Amino acid sequence: MITKLVILDRDGTINHDSDEYVKSAQEWTPMPGALEAIARLNHAGWHVVVASNQSGLGRGLFDVAALNAMHAKMHKMLGAVGGRIDAVFFCPHSPDESCSCRKPASGLFEQIGERYSMDLKGVPAVGDHLRDLQAATAVGCAPHLVLTGKGALHKGQTRLPSDFPTDTQVHEDLSAFVDWLLTKTQAKPQAVAKSSNKVSLTTQNTGSSA
Ligand SMILES: [Mg+2]
Ligand SMILES: [Zn+2]
Repeated sequence: MITKLVILDRDGTINHDSDEYVKSAQEWTPMPGALEAIARLNHAGWHVVVASNQSGLGRGLFDVAALNAMHAKMHKMLGAVGGRIDAVFFCPHSPDESCSCRKPASGLFEQIGERYSMDLKGVPAVGDHLRDLQAATAVGCAPHLVLTGKGALHKGQTRLPSDFPTDTQVHEDLSAFVDWLLTKTQAKPQAVAKSSNKVSLTTQNTGSSA
């Protein structure tokens, strides 16, 4: 059983986003320090999964083979720095398909909860866009905004717009989020364990998932 799980957005959180969409493995390029940050999470016992809107599929901008090639590149580059993403959950639909999985809808998060037979309450979820955090909080995840990708719009703001979840925590980038999480879980394990709505961070992970 997984007890330490982090859910990440992909574009703008792990890799450089593009207004023209990331359409090929060639266009998929990690942001500085992002893959190393995921590896640091893994080494501290955290499992990492991705929840990503990929409306470029529904819009006909690229096909599933291209998406698979992007993720093969991601997994390969991540493996080279000693990290691992357990699974990628993606929404292939365009906005006009009114699906239940395109963030801010919570379908991808529900799929993750089902896959791991896990209540996602308190599970950290990281994204660069309001809709990532809305989807996350719909299932009780703890919302974390990074100021990369679309999140760069919020740089220098003293407070986030009021439509953000009130408990949103802000980090410069994915690496800064990981610094925060590892410091918090290593420095104050007892205080964290007392918080009933969080996953138990003191439990050693003994499970594994292929
Ligand atoms: Mg994003
Ligand atoms: Zn969808």
